[in-house]
Amino acid sequence: MKIFNTLSKSKQEFVPLEENKVKMYVCGPTVYNFIHIGNARPMIVFDTVRRYFEYKGYDVNFVSNFTDVDDKIIKKAIEEGVTSDEVSKRFIAECKKDMEGMNIKPATKHPLATEEIDGMVEMIKTLIDQGFAYEKNGTVYYRTRKFEEYGKLSHKNLDDLRSGERSLLVTGEDEKEDALDFVLWKPKKEGEPFWVSPWSEGRPGWHIECSVMSKKYLGEQIDIHAGGEDLVFPHHENEIAQSEAANGKEFSRYWMHNAFLNIDNHKMSKSLGNFRTVREISEQYDLQVLRFFMLSAHYRSPLNFSADLMEASKSGLERIVNAADNLKFLMGNAKSDCMTEAEKELFAKTEEFVQGFERAMEDDFNTADAVAAVFELVKYTNTNTNQESSKEYLQMLLERLVKLTDVLGLIVNKEEDILDEEIEKLIEERQAARKAKDFKRADAIRDELLEKGIILKDTREGVQWKRA
Ligand SMILES: [Zn+2]
Repeated sequence: MKIFNTLSKSKQEFVPLEENKVKMYVCGPTVYNFIHIGNARPMIVFDTVRRYFEYKGYDVNFVSNFTDVDDKIIKKAIEEGVTSDEVSKRFIAECKKDMEGMNIKPATKHPLATEEIDGMVEMIKTLIDQGFAYEKNGTVYYRTRKFEEYGKLSHKNLDDLRSGERSLLVTGEDEKEDALDFVLWKPKKEGEPFWVSPWSEGRPGWHIECSVMSKKYLGEQIDIHAGGEDLVFPHHENEIAQSEAANGKEFSRYWMHNAFLNIDNHKMSKSLGNFRTVREISEQYDLQVLRFFMLSAHYRSPLNFSADLMEASKSGLERIVNAADNLKFLMGNAKSDCMTEAEKELFAKTEEFVQGFERAMEDDFNTADAVAAVFELVKYTNTNTNQESSKEYLQMLLERLVKLTDVLGLIVNKEEDILDEEIEKLIEERQAARKAKDFKRADAIRDELLEKGIILKDTREGVQWKRA
């Protein structure tokens, strides 16, 4: 399996630290609003990476944080007159709803920055003891000049960066030793949430959060650290500087970054007012369509969000779902159970599509080509099945299709929560309860059905029902 590593700027063979195990950390969102579709891209991409590792038999420890203390959260809390804790809790819950809609597996662990402050204070202490950090008036800074490999991830010219930021140092307005030094701990301002530390009552800088949470839940060394390409510098560069200085070993073996998402060929920005939240998209489309759209391009290619492309994704996804539905329909009416010799041969030929799928995924998770392999399987399935097909053959084709689409997180074989016969049975039971004037039981049955998305309507002709 080959992964493009931002560190080496090349595709490298994946070799796990521990056999059959993957330790993976993905930087999560700052929770001060509904997530937008730019946040959704890394979520979908790296969930798919995780799913492929699991498909290959790896045991994946997948950690993704929520940044729940931040200037933006504090600002929102002040605007609304509530605590920042209230804001972050609310949007973590909303984010999890969106993730469920996009069929993103919950992480093995979703740490919250505010619950890990002790570890951050510890790591900052270590960095100070080792000379990698210094305190000025209650603020602690990382001493970037001391970390010789600073810049190795972003491949930036540090001198250019330094000269760009030098002006403040020259005028003495900045207390930092170097223009690139960054904050590890900062004192509170009036009314801000704070924690006690040896340096001041305050809160951690953003970068130290991830170094600490990754260490606590995955250990000092991990296989993959991932996020959007906007995080390469300074966030991930700074995480490397902190973790490698504090732990004395290489932090992550592979660094993966997804490219930007544009909207109608423009960058998403506040000034253009073109931010689209996942929630807004969900009012128009099943979020499975958004997922399919995101995977229709390679994760390192910029992706353009537009109504046309969403419509194309919708019909693409429908083609796959229809093929699965068709197989299920044929299975329900199949006249024979066991595969014939001819069917065995036909089925064996589908191995080719599985191989095509895997080849694509092994090549730095080329989901665009993997989707193409699924379409080939769909086409083959449609042309090589009919009313004469055996149940076993149809079943095996369906399983093969589901197995591949599941790696992409696409649900093509939605199990109905409740079958028609069960609904009819419960309706009869409700009628009987009403007749016996047991209205409590009758209402309980109606609620039970409603929970499963079944709406009852009492008419003069009897009870009618429909799926919501
Ligand atoms: Zn991070």
